[in-house]
Amino acid sequence: MNHGLLQTTIAGSLPKPGWLAESAKLWAPWKWEGDALIEAKRDAVRLAVRDQEMAGIDIVGDGEQTRQHFVTTFIEHLHGVDFQQRKTVRIRDRYEASVPVVTGRVSRSQPVYVEDARFLRAETMRPIKYTLPGPLTMVDTLYDAHYGSREKLAWAFAEILNEEAQELAAAGVDIIQFDEPAFNVFFDEVREWGVKTLERAAADLPCKTAVHICYGYGIKANTEWKKTLGSEWRQYEETFPLLQTSTIDQVSLECHNSHVPIELIGLLKGKDVLVGAIDVTTDHIETPEEVADTIRKALPYVAPEHLYPCTNCGLVPLSREVAVGKLKALGAGAALVRQSLNQA
Ligand code: ZN
Repeated sequence: MNHGLLQTTIAGSLPKPGWLAESAKLWAPWKWEGDALIEAKRDAVRLAVRDQEMAGIDIVGDGEQTRQHFVTTFIEHLHGVDFQQRKTVRIRDRYEASVPVVTGRVSRSQPVYVEDARFLRAETMRPIKYTLPGPLTMVDTLYDAHYGSREKLAWAFAEILNEEAQELAAAGVDIIQFDEPAFNVFFDEVREWGVKTLERAAADLPCKTAVHICYGYGIKANTEWKKTLGSEWRQYEETFPLLQTSTIDQVSLECHNSHVPIELIGLLKGKDVLVGAIDVTTDHIETPEEVADTIRKALPYVAPEHLYPCTNCGLVPLSREVAVGKLKALGAGAALVRQSLNQA
C-alpha cells in the first residue's frame, strides 16, 4: 500500500512495552540481559511495526525500541568516550545532565544499528526510516577532554556517522534521519559548521536523508524553556534557509500546538517537509480533524507530494495506549486531507 500524497511517518521513538523497560520513562534500564534482551527488543520492534502499520503509517521506523537514549546509545559503541567518567554539564543551554567524557580520538570499530536495521527491513514491506543523532547534538551531549573544540569533535563524529549511515542504507533503509534538536539553540555553530558537519554525515548516501529539529520531549526542562520563548517561536527562521540550500532531502519540524509561525515552512522550498501534527507533550489524543487541520494549514507552503504528516518529536515519554491513539489519529487525519485533495 502506498498512499502517494501525504505519506505519514513518525519522528522516531515510541514507548517501550513494560516487560522490556520501565514505561513512561526516558533512559529506562532494560529488564533483560544477553540473548533474552536481544529477543525482547526484537519482539518490541515487531509490535512497534504492527502498531504503525495498523494506524496507516506509510514510512515505518523501529520506534527506537533497541536503544535507551537517542544520543548516548550510539556513542556507547564508539571508542574514545569513557562512560565510567562522568561530568555534569549544561546541555542544549537548558538543563544539567550527567554525561560521559571524550578522552581520546573517537572512532567506530563495528556497526551500531545495522543488525537492528536488517531486522526491521525483514519485518515490513513498507519503506523504513532509521534515526541517528546529528553531530552538533552529539557534541552537546558530552564533556570533551580531548579535542578542545566542539567543531573538531563534530567533524570526527560526522565521519563516523557517515560510515554507519552507508551501512544502514546498504541494509535496505530508505530514509536516514539525523536528530539535531541542538540546531534550535546554537545558531552561530549551526551557521559556522553545524550544517556542514550534518552534510558530511549524510554525504553520498544512496537513500534519502532527513534532519529532525524540535523543541524537545515533554519533559519539565523543555516545557519550562518553551514558556520563555514568547508568543512566536522563530528559531527555525535561522536554520531553514541554511537547510534549504543544503544537500539534506527532508526536514522534520514541530508544528501542532507550537508557537511556530506556519509560514516559516515556506523557507524550505524544494525540500520534503515532515510536518509535526501530533503534540508529544500531552496525553490528549488528537482527533483526526485536528491532525487534518494542521496539515491543511501547512499546504499553502508545501506541495502535497512534499508534505509528510509526522509527529512533533518522539513519543517515548507517553503511555503506549496514548501513543497508539496518536498514531491512529495521524493516519486518519492524513486520510481525511488526502480524500479532499483527490476529490478536488
Ligand atoms: Zn525531537
